[in-house]
Amino acid sequence: MSRALFVDGANKARVAQFNLREGRAGEVLMDVASVGLCGSDLHYFKDGGIGATVIKEPFVPGHEFGGYLCEDVEELGLTRGQLVAVDPNKACGQCDWCREGHHNLCPNVEFIGAPPFDGAMTERIWAPRSQLVALPVSFDALDAVMLEPLGVAIHAVKLAKPRMLERVAVLGCGSIGLLIIQVLKATGAGQVLACDPLAHRRAMAERIGADRVGETAADLIEWSKGGCPLVMEATNSPFGFRDAVTATRIGGRVVLVGIPDGDIYALPAADARRRGLNIKFARRMGDVYPLAIEFLAAGKVDVRSIVTHRIGLEETPGVLTALAENAPGYVKVLVDLKRT
Ligand SMILES: [Zn+2]
Ligand SMILES: [Zn+2]
Repeated sequence: MSRALFVDGANKARVAQFNLREGRAGEVLMDVASVGLCGSDLHYFKDGGIGATVIKEPFVPGHEFGGYLCEDVEELGLTRGQLVAVDPNKACGQCDWCREGHHNLCPNVEFIGAPPFDGAMTERIWAPRSQLVALPVSFDALDAVMLEPLGVAIHAVKLAKPRMLERVAVLGCGSIGLLIIQVLKATGAGQVLACDPLAHRRAMAERIGADRVGETAADLIEWSKGGCPLVMEATNSPFGFRDAVTATRIGGRVVLVGIPDGDIYALPAADARRRGLNIKFARRMGDVYPLAIEFLAAGKVDVRSIVTHRIGLEETPGVLTALAENAPGYVKVLVDLKRT
């Protein structure tokens, strides 16, 4: 038996006993150390799903996590009790996209923590050995958790290919936006303009290195005198796409990372067409775990200061409600299952 957070549907979350299933071939049992609450988890809670991925049975979320191995994994040189991270994206390895190296686009993916595949918001989990990520000894549970969102940010910046000292606008200063700002700064972008409607997130964006932070995309358009050559969108707003388009200069590039509430984008087509924009959608991440580990180990990004809350499992339903209501003060929340 293991306690777990269940999301039963829109606005229904509870903590209850979870019957841990039998392990399968190729899996290893882990004691979960810590799990991040992600914007996608919040979508599952607020909307009962994302697009066609709908919660039909009580579902355990959690895809950003680290844990302690309950047995040795000899082929990876890992020993019982060791802290590891888990790449939640278990792709099939057989389809056209997997063969081309785009595991993040695999239509047969078994993503740990996306319905119908239960995630890590529980005390113990069977993790596929193929998805284990060995960590430097200096890493703790927070580092292990933050590798996943950091990987999403790195993947988005790789897609964006910022040019040397190019000015970039980042819309949305939640965890992903804040990580994108830091990765941009660490890899040679120029001035980074950011915006967010929430004051505490704007303050955080200034602290972690954004050059100028406003409330709306209109501020960034004014400061850049008509728009930036590169705009990265990391909001949950149905108007995120529209705002990204209007914040982009003629001939510029847009990378969309956020998931809009209600799964609908609204934008006037002419704004995008007449600018001749190059638009990319980021989907989760490519094989960037090694790079994410290097960023963290080298101190190129600060993941620690964006973690504003560390809570226990029992507090999670209440915190999901607070997040859904945009309560002040929250940026990244980690749920600690096992304190060391
Ligand atoms: Zn996530
Ligand atoms: Zn595949």
